[in-house]
Amino acid sequence: MTNARQDVCNFNPGPAALPDEVLQQAQAELLNWGGCGLSVLEMSHRSKEYEGIQARAEEALRQLLDIPDDYRVLFLQGGASLQFAMVPMNFLPSGGVADYVLTGSWSEKALQDAQRLGQPRVAASTKEGGYRTIPSWRDLQPAPGSAYVHITSNNTIEGTQWQDLAHGLTVPVVADMSSDIASRPFRVADYHLIYAGAQKNIGPSGVTVVLVRESWLQQAEEIANQRNLPTMLRYAIHAKNKSLYNTPPTFAVYLVGLVAEWSLRQGGLSAMAERNRAKANLIYEAIDQSHGFYQGVAEPSCRSLMNITFRLADAELEAKFLQEAKTRGLIGLGGHRSVGGMRASLYNAVPYEACVRLREFMDDFRHRFS
Ligand code: PMP
Repeated sequence: MTNARQDVCNFNPGPAALPDEVLQQAQAELLNWGGCGLSVLEMSHRSKEYEGIQARAEEALRQLLDIPDDYRVLFLQGGASLQFAMVPMNFLPSGGVADYVLTGSWSEKALQDAQRLGQPRVAASTKEGGYRTIPSWRDLQPAPGSAYVHITSNNTIEGTQWQDLAHGLTVPVVADMSSDIASRPFRVADYHLIYAGAQKNIGPSGVTVVLVRESWLQQAEEIANQRNLPTMLRYAIHAKNKSLYNTPPTFAVYLVGLVAEWSLRQGGLSAMAERNRAKANLIYEAIDQSHGFYQGVAEPSCRSLMNITFRLADAELEAKFLQEAKTRGLIGLGGHRSVGGMRASLYNAVPYEACVRLREFMDDFRHRFS
């Protein structure tokens, strides 16, 4: 079966939909970027052209996320998964304590790597209830002398999201924002470090964006020295070298720039949040008005606007749903392999019209099978 791009609605969890406009721009510039006669794919990362491309990507991200001047923007590799290790390597002194908030499988993975490097403590966990909820900031009591508190702002697999990112804690807070960065306004300055694999809301896979408070990097350097960390694992080295210590993922960085510029043209984070809420409402309504035909996984007050998770009565019906959805061009709706069920990922680049098509399909499927 062949599909035209406009026939397909992409609900993949990541790598995920990218805006048509961005892909068209990349296509138009692919063979000859800016009249220099080379593709971005072929440029030296030490060239003036690439330097300009990276600076432009950083500038667009700074504008979009309103990043304060005393924060560094790093473009790293190894995915968000490498950040699970780099954060404790650089910020958790040997024998030191840090606080981890467990809200899903990705936070568990972050904790596991920290356990290899120090004594992280579980400051709160919603595992017992099947990760259907998010704890309240008020209930978090960081351990005395805690190096940082680590949270996962959006739980991609479970479909829950911190509704409020303002925390009021005095300990440094680190956030894995892989699956909801740039989807709504928040204050970067509330976090000492933010990391995000780009492949959901801000670009393709292959680059991880890290925002880090400049003054905290000194501490990272001291801890890295204590631990005798290899060069590539040190934030301070990447910061000093402007993410050009080694060859960066040049094309991915270029695309992050184009996506950030596109997001600004859409009206920035407030406009994104409004669109994302309208998109998610369409699908949550289909769930809530289905008299239990569709069962939402997340507790309603903790629902994610990015990843909507739901179940049907049994595995057979779920398989039928996925298969029919696919024949209608609605793809990527299967839940994570560890939990099954359904998941609709509605990142920034998923158009409202795609959500309307999914809603229509959900209503139609329910009428036929309930
Ligand atoms: N954290 C979160 C919240 C994620 O959703 C993911 C990927 N789905 C990861 C971490 C891991 O990211 P990566 O594959 O880039 O290592």
